[in-house]
Amino acid sequence: MSQQQFENFTASSLYCEKCKAAMPVRERLLLILPDKEIYDYLCTGCASSVGQREVTAGDKLMAQRTAPRRRAPAPRIQL
Ligand SMILES: [Zn+2]
Repeated sequence: MSQQQFENFTASSLYCEKCKAAMPVRERLLLILPDKEIYDYLCTGCASSVGQREVTAGDKLMAQRTAPRRRAPAPRIQL
């Protein structure tokens, strides 16, 4: 269980080969697939990609369950 939590942990700094140091990174949504989303981590020093993270549909469901709802409910369609 603790292992799962560690895997879901969002990195705040990663090693950058260009800067040759652990640099703070910012997350950018790179690709949206039917079952997952891929995020890119960019070095804040040189803006090069230093890592990627995949968020599966299961992870998103977990996040939605804990996050407060922002979207209005979908309109009801009556036939
Ligand atoms: Zn860098």
